[in-house]
Amino acid sequence: MSSTNFLHLPHQQLRRRKIFGGIKPAPHKAASLRSRIMPMPLPPQLILPINQYHGTNSSPLVKVGDAVLKYQALTEKLDHTGAALHAPTSGRITAICSAPIAGHPGNAALCIHLQCDGDDNSLELQPCLNHDQLTGFEVLRKIDAAGIVGMGGAGFPTAHKLRLAIEHGTELLIINAAECEPYISTDEALLRERAREVVIGAELLRTACHAPRCIIAIEEDKPAAIAALRSALAHSPIELMLLHSTYPTGGEKQIVQAVTGLEVPVGQYPLNLGILVHNAGTAYAVYQAVAEGKPSISRIITLTGRALQTPKNFEALIGTPAAFLLKLCGVQEQHHLTTVMGGSLMGLQLAHTEVPVTKTTNCLIAATVEDFPQPEPELACIRCGFCAEVCPARLLPQQLYSFARTHNHTQLQSYGLDDCIECGACAYVCPSNIPLVQYYVAAKQDLRTLSVAREQSEHWQTRFQFHQYRTKQEKDSARERRIPTALFPVELLPTDSSPITSVQFSRQLAQQEIADAVARANAKRISRLATDTQMPQHPAKDKE
Ligand code: SF4
Ligand code: SF4
Repeated sequence: MSSTNFLHLPHQQLRRRKIFGGIKPAPHKAASLRSRIMPMPLPPQLILPINQYHGTNSSPLVKVGDAVLKYQALTEKLDHTGAALHAPTSGRITAICSAPIAGHPGNAALCIHLQCDGDDNSLELQPCLNHDQLTGFEVLRKIDAAGIVGMGGAGFPTAHKLRLAIEHGTELLIINAAECEPYISTDEALLRERAREVVIGAELLRTACHAPRCIIAIEEDKPAAIAALRSALAHSPIELMLLHSTYPTGGEKQIVQAVTGLEVPVGQYPLNLGILVHNAGTAYAVYQAVAEGKPSISRIITLTGRALQTPKNFEALIGTPAAFLLKLCGVQEQHHLTTVMGGSLMGLQLAHTEVPVTKTTNCLIAATVEDFPQPEPELACIRCGFCAEVCPARLLPQQLYSFARTHNHTQLQSYGLDDCIECGACAYVCPSNIPLVQYYVAAKQDLRTLSVAREQSEHWQTRFQFHQYRTKQEKDSARERRIPTALFPVELLPTDSSPITSVQFSRQLAQQEIADAVARANAKRISRLATDTQMPQHPAKDKE
């Protein structure tokens, strides 16, 4: 349980805190917010990564050739860190094989390929009308069954996070609606149109984690979403908090600081302070799972960038290829420079657009050269310190840069590279145009590789030591079997009262043999002495 005392602070004292550091880039959100959230037509094929989250283990429940219905479970999780996957529409499984996936290790993952039949036949859903009367355990079970993962980008399974929150004891649930990265407008669009559902989802999450207090935090520059939230919260105990619009306020540790003024210590999580953070999109998925009985098969995604004729937000099925969505928005290939998955500061540049939308994909930017101008040449660091002023994690980016260049892994770790959230604020202000985040990402990859190599080396060393120990044991026991039993110390020999064993028998026999041999030798010596005294002396000896 945490020792924080913000639970009883009046709302005014919690209000409008600013995070440490941060920047204010141009938002670039207006274009995609011009229209409402659009449904999308069915694509011909969906590519569904079996593991939607790094490090999870799931196994397929279907095989190639199977016909599946919408909402049918396609995988089962093998441990708590997994999340189930469901069919977003009806069709036939055509392959289960590796396919390119953005952001996964090796940029590929095992995927289920679903050929859509166009009928969208579904299993019957079981909505829950009295969801406000469910217990925390019942809500948690429904969230788990729906395969929901954090929609903010990290993709941590929601049910697992709730279980950890219950273990730690949660005092405050923060619904993170601070969507500060340029170009991304999914949460704003969601809250403008479906604020009531997000509020119900937040109440269900609060029930599941037993948090006494819940705050929805949103930046002050989203008036339409704020108005919708105020209306939806009219009869709810959940509070609304407006935050300064600074990037990256939406980071998990940063929003905790913005809402409570508390800084999450290095190497710890908000849960260590009794605070649970969930994204607004996750709250909406929880509403769908619990109230409507719908598994997680779709998400809101922003399609934007100057290469699109009609940028907008789509409710996209998980597994939809990026190319299909870009085409729906009228991508102008002659201006299309590159495609980025995510926002302009933390997004990933796609090698090609056949990669599918996953549960964590919030934005696709079809960029022109105006969106992403060619980077200026990288110059030497002039130690201006601007990067340190804006780092929300209070790191020293210029030092990290210097250690990353020299591969000084010890110093990288002691200067807190692990705490870098790769927000890109430092690179954004750097007058020397140093792509700092690229250096940090490469350094983190090096450290991961070294850590894996170290773990493997320790594993093989342990195995070798065990092998040596076992060999020695075998040799010792073999030697013990070969040692003549007569050499055993007398005290180790069995007593007369102990039961006779083959070992005991052989030892007694050996003792007897030794005694007999000694007696024979003594008898021989006495007999020779007697003979010597009766024989005449040798002549040669007489002369002497
Ligand atoms: S902002 Fe760039 S030039 Fe300035 S200290 Fe940081 S890395 Fe060096
Ligand atoms: S990318 Fe890392 S070092 Fe740079 S500002 Fe963000 S947290 Fe700090």
